[in-house]
Amino acid sequence: MTPGTSAVLFVTLRIAAALALGATLGWFAGAWWLGVCGVLVLYLAWNLWQLWELHSWLRNRGVADPPDAMGLWGDVVAQVVRLHRRKRFHKERLARLFRELRRSTAAMPDGVVMLDPKGEIIWFNRKAGEMLDLSRRADLGLRIDNFVRHPDFVQYLRGNEYSAPVIVRPDVNQEKYLAFQLISYGEDQRMLMLRDVTREVRLEQMRKDFVANASHELRSPLTVIAGYLETISADPGIGELAGPINEMRRQADRMTRIIEDLLELSRFEANDGPIKGQPIDVAAMAALLRKDVLARTTHPASVEVAIESGASLIGDEAMVQSAFSNLVDNAAKYTPPGGSMTIRWWTDEQGGHFSVRDTGPGIPAEHLPRLTERFYRVDPGRSRETGGSGLGLAIVKHALYRHGARLEIDSVEGRGSTFTCHFPAERLFEQRAAANG
Ligand code: ADP
Repeated sequence: MTPGTSAVLFVTLRIAAALALGATLGWFAGAWWLGVCGVLVLYLAWNLWQLWELHSWLRNRGVADPPDAMGLWGDVVAQVVRLHRRKRFHKERLARLFRELRRSTAAMPDGVVMLDPKGEIIWFNRKAGEMLDLSRRADLGLRIDNFVRHPDFVQYLRGNEYSAPVIVRPDVNQEKYLAFQLISYGEDQRMLMLRDVTREVRLEQMRKDFVANASHELRSPLTVIAGYLETISADPGIGELAGPINEMRRQADRMTRIIEDLLELSRFEANDGPIKGQPIDVAAMAALLRKDVLARTTHPASVEVAIESGASLIGDEAMVQSAFSNLVDNAAKYTPPGGSMTIRWWTDEQGGHFSVRDTGPGIPAEHLPRLTERFYRVDPGRSRETGGSGLGLAIVKHALYRHGARLEIDSVEGRGSTFTCHFPAERLFEQRAAANG
């Protein structure tokens, strides 16, 4: 039996006893029902009094003490007091939490802006206010792209790809770079994290400039050394020095290739914006690349070109040529003379695709994620033997990135590799459609 049921039972018994007493007294007085009515009237009056007391306390419960009720009314008052206390406790905890949240977000080194589905500002912390010059009174409810108008940011905000932050310079008059990272949460709500990356951008720029300048400075002395070595090696009087001199020439050639590749990479990195460019005849480029492979002293036995689309690719010809020739070069370099390679160009609704497939040694899966890093080589010995600089795939990746394209690498150790460049559909130029239009 629950405490509630036992209280009701007790009250019922008490009423029954009072009624019995009333009926007995009434019977002695000559009319038992008069006694019953008297008890009922008294009981009703007592209940009304309790109800009135509870009602007046509930209206002033902030200041008044709870009434001193008995029986069931006492239980009701105790329950209400408990509920009231619990509510006050939760309210205070929430207020404390909110205060702490506000204090901690104000102390955060990063800016935070909460956005609604329309991109309007719901809330922002102190740092975000400082970075974007926002005012709490005037700017809440305004769209965030009123404050950051940079096209890269606007595009990022409208898209739905938030995996990486976008770095922009919100004010052209200020040398300040901010990284914006959107995070989706709740129902179509977004949180915008802002970080000042001016120092990182400057350091990155210094690194690029240093590599470009160092490569440039090294090129001239190396050209002189390579030139003298060539002249000396042609002299029949060098006798037993021929071997070392030839090795020196080979190493000088390798250094020249590394420097040329570093300079090329620096050129591609010099400007980070996307490239517009001109229509490129991929079929003609592939045919030339095939000719270059066949002109090598050793090359795979079969070099095929499969052009499955007449579409041209819109881009920077030198950059695309460099990317494609690096892939073709690698396939030619790493595939044994008995093997085969295929250069393929095709288009579909996703865009244009250029792939180079070979039956070479393949690449173990654990190396694939790091393959496009500068100077990363699967087999350093073999790469050096083949004259590789270790920069080829880094150049490919960067050239593709500048065209909004990406590199996919499929490889099975011992079976061969396929490197595919995926270009977006807006990079395609259909001759026939253009002629008809
Ligand atoms: P490298 O100048 O050394 O060829 P890359 O950046 O072009 O440098 O390539 C990085 C590494 O990836 C190479 O050292 C090689 O180990 C591996 N690699 C690239 N292409 C192929 C391929 N077609 N087959 C096998 N391994 C390859």
